[in-house]
Amino acid sequence: MQIKNSAVSMIIEAENQKELEEIKLQFLGRSGRLTLTLKGITKIPVEKRAAVGQLANEVKKVIEETLGEKFLNLNSQFLIQNKQSIDITNPGIKPDIGHLHPMTQVLNEVVDVFKSIGFQAADGPEIETDYYNFEALNIPKDHPSRDTQQTLYLDTRNSKVNPGEIILRTQTSTMQGRVMEKIKPPARVIVPGKNFRYDQVDASHGFEFWQVEGFMADANVKLTDLFGTIEYVLRKLMGESVKLKFATTNFPFVEPGVDTYIQCSVCSGKGCNFCRYSGWSEIMPAGMIHPNVLKAVGYNSQEISGFAFAIGLSRLVTLRYRMDDLRLLTNPDLRILEQF
Ligand SMILES: [Zn+2]
Repeated sequence: MQIKNSAVSMIIEAENQKELEEIKLQFLGRSGRLTLTLKGITKIPVEKRAAVGQLANEVKKVIEETLGEKFLNLNSQFLIQNKQSIDITNPGIKPDIGHLHPMTQVLNEVVDVFKSIGFQAADGPEIETDYYNFEALNIPKDHPSRDTQQTLYLDTRNSKVNPGEIILRTQTSTMQGRVMEKIKPPARVIVPGKNFRYDQVDASHGFEFWQVEGFMADANVKLTDLFGTIEYVLRKLMGESVKLKFATTNFPFVEPGVDTYIQCSVCSGKGCNFCRYSGWSEIMPAGMIHPNVLKAVGYNSQEISGFAFAIGLSRLVTLRYRMDDLRLLTNPDLRILEQF
């Protein structure tokens, strides 16, 4: 009777199926308390054996029944609890709808800023001819500056095109010739697009990079117009406090040539891997359009002058978001993209 009472009260208090299994072992297992009692029945006087045996069997039956009921009970409780945890009045889970890539976001801003000062946007081919990529930009076939533009040539062996004539454009400046051939001055145009060079890939260089080419051609366009435009645009895009530096440089398609540097935002000018420890990053090479380029498109270089520039868009985006590596822009990892 003592075994029955303690077994039943333990079963009633059990909170889960694991506890029930343990109780079952404790009483009905091979060395359980009731099992041992039944085994020890031979040691008691013969006349009492039948009564003890009957009692033990009744106790076993009660324990088994109570266990069975409790199993069912716990099981239905479990089901009820789980059912309650699904609240059908909850609103559904919204699927992710995605957003624009940081490059596209900044590109849209660049286009808006230029549109606000009268520029139009044009688009052009990424597969280009040698003529528009080089010759129309005052870079004849034997010009040493071609060596600085690591050009990717297309295989033209099975075509009528002369070898070396079709390339992947190395600069969006190709569109200067294409656009100016079609429109008369005044021309104010920007050309966003991808360029390709077999450059060594590192934190601030890629074999594929975005540029926004821009140019203006009209009567009396001066170098100060170029400075004013660059400063206005970069302050709009990078904030009023941005620090800029101009230096003279040499590109065959401009005379004089100007290089625009922006203070490295990754290290705030202290020097880091991204800016190659100079504190400055080249952001916008520019200059006054060379008279030979104007002549090539049929403009009168005595009456018409102009300026041209190219914004390194990939670099602008990395500097804007203080990324220390250009390669993050082409990384499809959502943990990166979700930050924008
Ligand atoms: Zn830096």
